[in-house]
Amino acid sequence: MHIVAIDGPAGSGKSSVSKTVARKLGYGYLDTGAAYRALTWFISSQAKNLAAIDLDFLTKEFDYRISLDPDDYWVKVGSTDVTYEIRETSIGEKVSAIAGLPIIREYMRNLAHELVNASGFAGVVVEGRDITTVVFPSAQNRILLTASEEVRLRRRSAELPEGISIAEQITKRDQNDSKVVDFLSPATGVELVDSTELDFDSTVEAIIRIIERTK
Ligand code: C5P
Repeated sequence: MHIVAIDGPAGSGKSSVSKTVARKLGYGYLDTGAAYRALTWFISSQAKNLAAIDLDFLTKEFDYRISLDPDDYWVKVGSTDVTYEIRETSIGEKVSAIAGLPIIREYMRNLAHELVNASGFAGVVVEGRDITTVVFPSAQNRILLTASEEVRLRRRSAELPEGISIAEQITKRDQNDSKVVDFLSPATGVELVDSTELDFDSTVEAIIRIIERTK
């Protein structure tokens, strides 16, 4: 199994770049942030207290499913399709607190391994915040995708109608998230791709070149 691990902050273009790289290679694509978002949605919908989250709850009650097909992306909790709902601002505001809990991070790490193993693909592009360091530290390719804060905020604001308030939320979320895992500077052996001056296609090409070197 060929693992391409890609980490980076919000607005670095990670998701769309990873999806396109996966498509070009004929690989699967795993968005690990979706599981944190879906769990946030599930906990909120159940009005569950964070202190009550344990392994039993995660394994028995959180029925999470995600498609690894880059051409058919969806996320489900039980039979509910939450693909779009988990992108809402209200989820973005709450997700860091949930992602900061060690029991949840450990559960998510195992979940990523299970999803990749069961995917049926020869390789998977896995993207998140701690993929190069914690989830798949032995991946054949480990890449940190960054961009200057100004460019990241501009790209994200252009994507979303809420504009500037979203930019503020993203900055706050990155600050909170980076207290838990460092995704702003590359760990030893992790290659840095800075997309500040690159357009989408050039960023995809830069990553494909790195992968091809090791194939
Ligand atoms: O990638 P995305 O922005 O959708 O991730 C949502 C949230 O999930 C992040 O803000 C972070 O709190 C959490 N996350 C994480 N580790 C990952 C992926 C996401 O903590 N590998």
